[in-house]
Amino acid sequence: MGRIVYDRAEQGDPNSSEERLNYRKKISDPDTLYWMTEDEKYFLHQELSTPVMNMLEKVKGAAIYDLSGKKYLDLHGNGVYNAGFGNDAVIAAAKAQLDADLCFSPRRYSNIPAVKLAGKLVDISPDGLDRVLFCPGGSQAIEMAVMLAKQVTGRFKTISYWDSYHGTGFQAASVGAEEHFSTGNGPMVPGAFYVDFPNLYRNPWGFTTAEQVEDECVRQIKNVIRHHPDIACIVGEPVSATPWVPSKKYWEQIRNICDEHNILLIFDEVIEGFGRTGKMFACEHFVTPDVLVMGKSLGGGLVPFAGILTKDKYNVLQHRSVGHYTHEKNPFCAAVALANIEYIEREKLVEKAAGKGIYLKNKLLGLKNKYPIVGNVEGLGMHLGIDLVKDPVTKEKAVEEAEKIMYRCMGQGVAFKIIEGSVITLRPSLVITDDELDYVVKVLDESIASLYMN
Ligand code: PLP
Repeated sequence: MGRIVYDRAEQGDPNSSEERLNYRKKISDPDTLYWMTEDEKYFLHQELSTPVMNMLEKVKGAAIYDLSGKKYLDLHGNGVYNAGFGNDAVIAAAKAQLDADLCFSPRRYSNIPAVKLAGKLVDISPDGLDRVLFCPGGSQAIEMAVMLAKQVTGRFKTISYWDSYHGTGFQAASVGAEEHFSTGNGPMVPGAFYVDFPNLYRNPWGFTTAEQVEDECVRQIKNVIRHHPDIACIVGEPVSATPWVPSKKYWEQIRNICDEHNILLIFDEVIEGFGRTGKMFACEHFVTPDVLVMGKSLGGGLVPFAGILTKDKYNVLQHRSVGHYTHEKNPFCAAVALANIEYIEREKLVEKAAGKGIYLKNKLLGLKNKYPIVGNVEGLGMHLGIDLVKDPVTKEKAVEEAEKIMYRCMGQGVAFKIIEGSVITLRPSLVITDDELDYVVKVLDESIASLYMN
């Protein structure tokens, strides 16, 4: 049976839907309207961003504020705000670094903040990940990881997962498997093969246990390798964006397959790293990859910074440059990232994410018991999702309803993103309070209930 294809951009809610246009029509603040029009005039328009939803004046902690001063608890934050937007400790470190007159480091030189950050990452990551490379963004970090795998194996083929997103650009969009980011670009990077990510709730085979689904997904990987033994790497997020959480056994099997065939296992932790899943890195729930890709929250919501952690045995490319980026050892970004990690450790945000995640998930499961439209609640730590269905039996995606709920929640000061048409993604800042989480659930509850009132 073929995979399920959705008619909506998989990474987010569309900016041209009826609900979006209605939301836009309700904005009356003249300042906001003026700047939104200016934004539309100057930026290249593209799906998922421009024309935009609203204008922001301020971001702080777990919240964003629009130009009219309205506050929204943000449960998206583009994944950069694990330690909170505008974190005072991170900003203080940024200011100190600027005052130190060391805000750039030309290539061929290094600097103390960059070295300290690299050392810190080696310290906080699982044993065996002891080499680091930085770059400005997650897509480039994926590029570095895949290029490293290709270089060290001498192979060019990749296996990754249908419907996954690993960034923009040819390599990242080639291991990502979303139509939205590749169609119209001509040939993508060759050698990319795709398999299904385990997902019991939306499995197309009619299986009734997670184990059956995982067995099928492992079989698919073995099948690709049987036909193409020359695979360089398997690339995946430890937990899917949907978010489906595979068993430890599933990743152990993939780890074994990689070891057996000298394939590098690459974990994309651009979203899941730095505490989101209740561990510093999501791989700690499962297995240690050969390459761990970091981004987003590494930069503390202040600077674009990303990178990879890998094993010493892959430190064999003295004759090549897989990460020849201008900001490779940027001391300003490094100082910010270091302060950000120290804050996460000091405030025990990883442990808090684990506890708050259980709290929030239980509340969401309460909504599942209450409303048939809540088909499934999944996730780990503060990486949760609610899959909305028109019918619990057919599981037809409740696409229009998801948008109605989202825009109603926005009206009540709760913002989030929808992916794959029907999945409300809830990935709050790890500094969000229990009271704020209660408010999020209350607004979600009322917004879902409002569907049944019409
Ligand atoms: N990988 C994942 C899982 C992501 O969610 C993203 C961005 O959303 C990326 C990679 C790409 O990161 P960036 O946008 O910093 O290039």
